[in-house]
Amino acid sequence: MKKYVIALDAGTTSVRAMLFDLQAKKFTAVAKQEVEQSFPHPGWVEQDANEIYFKAAYALNRCITAAGADAIAGIGIANQRESVVFWNRETGEPVCPAIIWQCRRTSEFCERIPQEVKGEIVRKTGLRADAYFSASKINWGLAHVEEARRLSERGKLCVGTIDSYLIFKLTEGHTFATDYTNASRTMLFDIHALRWDEELLNFFGVPRSALPEARSCTARMGEFRAQNACIPIAGVAGDQQAALFGQACLNKGDGKITYGTGLFMLFNTGSACARSESGLLSTVGYAIGDKIVYALEGSVFNAGSSIQWLRDEMGFFKDSAQSESIALSVPDSGGVFFVPAFTGLGAPYWRGDARGLLCGITRGTSRAHIVRAVLESIAYSACDLSVCMQQDSGIPLNGIRCDGGASANDFLMQFQADVLGVAIDRPRERESTALGAALLCAVALGLADETSVSDYRVCERKFTPAQQREGFLRSYSAYKTAVNRALFTGK
Ligand code: ADP
Repeated sequence: MKKYVIALDAGTTSVRAMLFDLQAKKFTAVAKQEVEQSFPHPGWVEQDANEIYFKAAYALNRCITAAGADAIAGIGIANQRESVVFWNRETGEPVCPAIIWQCRRTSEFCERIPQEVKGEIVRKTGLRADAYFSASKINWGLAHVEEARRLSERGKLCVGTIDSYLIFKLTEGHTFATDYTNASRTMLFDIHALRWDEELLNFFGVPRSALPEARSCTARMGEFRAQNACIPIAGVAGDQQAALFGQACLNKGDGKITYGTGLFMLFNTGSACARSESGLLSTVGYAIGDKIVYALEGSVFNAGSSIQWLRDEMGFFKDSAQSESIALSVPDSGGVFFVPAFTGLGAPYWRGDARGLLCGITRGTSRAHIVRAVLESIAYSACDLSVCMQQDSGIPLNGIRCDGGASANDFLMQFQADVLGVAIDRPRERESTALGAALLCAVALGLADETSVSDYRVCERKFTPAQQREGFLRSYSAYKTAVNRALFTGK
């Protein structure tokens, strides 16, 4: 009886294989391996793709041993996006370190991209021309790595995101493919036509033959042979998109927010791809067979990191969780506002030079007022994104499904519901990314259908917005005034 699927979550800091029990609707085992990162020059971030593969295979084998190969229906994959691997098609060996999404080595190149190409990029890929995405990283590899260039000339080079490398290795070179969500983060993929774009390939000097075939998230990707069994690999998505699916944000207007170090919001815009006027990204949300669901994506650079700052730099508490009771010890922030612009402000402000700000302090301001203001600032930042998403798409927000470390904070979740005016639904299983990979796999194998995905996501608590919201809206407007002050840098 095949009662399990495995979710392989290849993140930036660790690779995990998690055993999902389809009947009990929960994860029952996890095998986790940390992965190294290296920083050879300022702003550069690299990883060893071989290490990622070996640790993935090891973690998979641990789960397979735990459950028994016969009990496993398939393997779904979710992964860190945008990072690129260059490898030899014949040997499967990487030819250089993987260039990781945070790596800024191509930022100057991206700044020099001509305006008309930048326009094409937005129109076709839904992204902003930036070093974050794969295209300029691939261009860099082809220009600077001798072996990559040599292999490319002989048609023997493979270049792809982490999912495509893992699929290639796990299927012993049989499948060279990626899924639409990962492809949509490369800046080379036309998200409307669902194909690699010739003009962008030419601009970045990327040969089509070196790229994987892009398939639906529920396409079969081959088999992993382990312990005398052949286990199908099916169900692939980039981590944020997998989380959208794992949160069962299946309807137009459904949104998910991950409250981690930073904050990530994805908003389901249905079968239509919404174009953002506020600089948010349009992306493939997920694909089930031929059906494509688009999403808008926005992020806030600093969210949980401001709580860490209160803990580590200000010494206000020892454990992030204490921020909740401290915030609740005062009835409001006492007129104090905080703008978490430690590293600038993203959408909708796009001011990398903005810096953090604490304002409205009086002689009566206490630690609790400041802690409360910092938590509130996280909710206001999410509000900024959600306002843009609704304006850009013309679709009202139905509700938010939350995950990530700081979603454990009840005060923050309630305040978020109050300022947004929609319910915040917190699931029992906060591993939304892994759940998304497991459920995409179940759908791909016909063990579940798209509509039944909601049955696998169990609500732990729902935070409903206050009846009287005027006060919250006034505070949000005061926060926007504080943001304007944070945009003043004194230069
Ligand atoms: P990441 O995956 O980005 O490392 P996590 O999802 O593990 O982040 O979340 C960790 C972040 O959440 C930290 O910045 C931490 O300060 C914050 N955090 C964790 N628990 C709480 C809490 N109860 N209240 C507020 N913030 C919290």
